[in-house]
Amino acid sequence: MTGKPGSNRGWHTETMAVHAGEFVDPATRASSPNLVMSVTFAPEAVTGFSARDEQGYDGFVYGRVGSPTVAQLEAKLAALEGADAALCFGSGVAAAHALICGRLGRGDHLIVPDANYVGIAELARDTLPRFGIEVSYVDIANTGEVAAAIRPNTRMLWLETPANPTMKLCDIAALARLAHERGVRDVAVDSTYATPMATQPLALGADFVVHSLTKYIGGHGDAMGGAVLGRKADLDALNLEATVHFGGVLSPFNAWLILRGAATLPIRMRAHEEAALKVARFLEDHPSVSRVFYPGLASHPQHELARRQMRNFSGMMTFQTRQPGPEIAAKMVKDLEIIHYAVSLGHHRSLVYWIGTPDIQASTFRHDPEQLRRYREYAGDGVFRLSVGIENPDDLIADLARVL
Ligand SMILES: *Cc1c(COP(=O)(O)O)cnc(C)c1O
Repeated sequence: MTGKPGSNRGWHTETMAVHAGEFVDPATRASSPNLVMSVTFAPEAVTGFSARDEQGYDGFVYGRVGSPTVAQLEAKLAALEGADAALCFGSGVAAAHALICGRLGRGDHLIVPDANYVGIAELARDTLPRFGIEVSYVDIANTGEVAAAIRPNTRMLWLETPANPTMKLCDIAALARLAHERGVRDVAVDSTYATPMATQPLALGADFVVHSLTKYIGGHGDAMGGAVLGRKADLDALNLEATVHFGGVLSPFNAWLILRGAATLPIRMRAHEEAALKVARFLEDHPSVSRVFYPGLASHPQHELARRQMRNFSGMMTFQTRQPGPEIAAKMVKDLEIIHYAVSLGHHRSLVYWIGTPDIQASTFRHDPEQLRRYREYAGDGVFRLSVGIENPDDLIADLARVL
């Protein structure tokens, strides 16, 4: 069940983050959203049994088709992203899977980035071909390479910007225009790193936006979730098939936690960006750091694109050290006092993790030597992925100085 479109468009972002999708409960006058855990709902009239029969019915019937707390989160997300509608899932990967498998089938061709989020990269490489979906891996920072990869049966172009973990960007507007001109029906953007505070891909011509709500939008590292946003008609169809049949729905409890997190997204993203810029500058000046990739630094190879496409540079960066990465990583595990050496990102607490080139290779597509050469040229030999939280950046800098 998708949220009511449009009602909050006149509000400023901070106001939408707090109020969109929320309302005073008419029965209790509760000011905060209700957590409704019920999986079934007693309709006021006899409805059909299959989700298809319920298409004309406006109320809730069964939790896998739609449920009230999740619907409130969907309405808030749609307002923040400037989308007609949103659909939530149990994780970011569940959202990606639902979108790809809900839209593509045997004989369709999908273009994915040659380095992107590991779970989706492995889904594309290891699973989709078993179901007859053809997959090509291209450097999406290179428009010519994308153009050359488009085939008559290309149905979806998958973008991720900035990409996890390389921090490479792609030009959403240029690629969406190219894809649509060449007859590609769907342009989907994984905007987890950017968040709606930085970039609104739908306004740049994309058809779908995907978020891992586990990251910045939930923001506190205590609830997994995912979302697909786009046009109402597309998402209604996706709800009917991907949600109802694949079944990867979001728990109302997680929706309730993520609703609370999303309310502070605008102010958190400002704090993430402010702290990250300070930390990035510290790293860039540090003698044992050889390279920092942060879109907010003039040294980022695509800084111009970042300034054009991102209103907030977020808290994500990667860096490389002169000493071997695994040695520094071992020190981090032992000696960091504030920053957690742990995977995931976008939480209020800072997180750092070492990602070696063989690990990236194992999970993406760098089997051909030319791709590997270009990757090493871009990112050297492994990266530390740092998610700068909302702690005081001076404390984070002191913590990093301890291990560098
Ligand atoms: C984490 C992440 C995902 C997957 O989200 P989960 O909630 O962990 O399933 C997808 N894309 C990006 C860019 C991510 O960082």
